[in-house]
Amino acid sequence: MRDGRSGPPEESSSIAFGEKLLALLGTGSFTTSYKYALLLAILDAVVEGTGPDGSPPVSLSGRELGRRVFALYWRQARPYTEHGTLRQGPAGQRDLVFKIAELRGRLGVPEHLPLEVARRQHPEELDQLEREVVAVVIRYPVVLLQRFGSGAAAIDDRFIYEVAWDDAVSPGRVHRPNFDDSLVLVHGAGAHLSALSGLVRPVVEREWLRHVARRNEGDVDELRLEAFLFGSDRSSLTSLREPLLRIQRGHCFYCQAERGPWEVDHFLPWSRWPDNRLDNLVVADRGCNNDKRAALPAVQHLNRWSARSAPTSSTSQQLATVADQLQWPRRAERTAAGARGLYHHQPAGTMLWVGRGVVEPLDPTRLTSVFPNLDLDVAAEGGSDYKR
Ligand SMILES: [Zn+2]
Repeated sequence: MRDGRSGPPEESSSIAFGEKLLALLGTGSFTTSYKYALLLAILDAVVEGTGPDGSPPVSLSGRELGRRVFALYWRQARPYTEHGTLRQGPAGQRDLVFKIAELRGRLGVPEHLPLEVARRQHPEELDQLEREVVAVVIRYPVVLLQRFGSGAAAIDDRFIYEVAWDDAVSPGRVHRPNFDDSLVLVHGAGAHLSALSGLVRPVVEREWLRHVARRNEGDVDELRLEAFLFGSDRSSLTSLREPLLRIQRGHCFYCQAERGPWEVDHFLPWSRWPDNRLDNLVVADRGCNNDKRAALPAVQHLNRWSARSAPTSSTSQQLATVADQLQWPRRAERTAAGARGLYHHQPAGTMLWVGRGVVEPLDPTRLTSVFPNLDLDVAAEGGSDYKR
């Protein structure tokens, strides 16, 4: 389901909404890292739930958010050092990260094995633990996220979503088919979250990182910890380099150079929206990859990228073959929805990356060549500031 409103909301109310989110991070109670994980899951689900006209979703599925949290923790539960897994909850507590680490150890899962692949090898064990994670997410962080302060003085302010249950709900009920797991977004919240996701995500990650550093006393190298917790797992991407380069006929996706060194690049930058599925991956020469970093690619690139995944294109067939052969996950329509969400909420004039050292301001009307059903009304108004 989606919100009828489309495009960026009133700027001032987005700022007020963002301030409230910051206050939540500053004053809420964070014993474990569950709320951080839930917040990132919500940001991802909102971006990925963008409709064909660019409108944000009106509700999110609690079970889906739980599965996203499971995926986030799956990577974070691998060993950080020879001492093992990083603690994210109080000492002695068997929290979700601990349980995932335990299962990984018991099954002997290699460190960099993506969740999707591990799931094919151990479907029963992973499904069972995922169900447990889903129940915990629905019963605790979903209910407690919008609580400011702690203890008797805590104030619940449901400014993001409403749910029809409280923390007394039993784990068994959560899994019954008739349990309504909807987080109904408060009017405007979906649009605010979409508009702010690029700003809020790094703040949540930063707070999460500090939480983990505190829980694991001693000197923690923050850059290393950041890459461990939130970075993309580049080593797992190497197997895709040659097949993707063949699809690109040996050329850099961006500058068409015929010489590497080649690197697999997340077209939609990982730091804005961590999507490791095949349609978001292209091959670029190192120069382009280093220069592009967290920028969104220019519309000309977006056009070619989008055409590559179009269901009727020969390249989409080739991608399907690669996904089959390498057992790599692919959800083209979800990746496309993420692209709509990210681009549609950029104000006119946002600098997009063209090539090494070259940027160009976004002209939102050009986005309709890629997303023909996009509603640009509000987006066009958002551009007035830039043109002034
Ligand atoms: Zn290049």
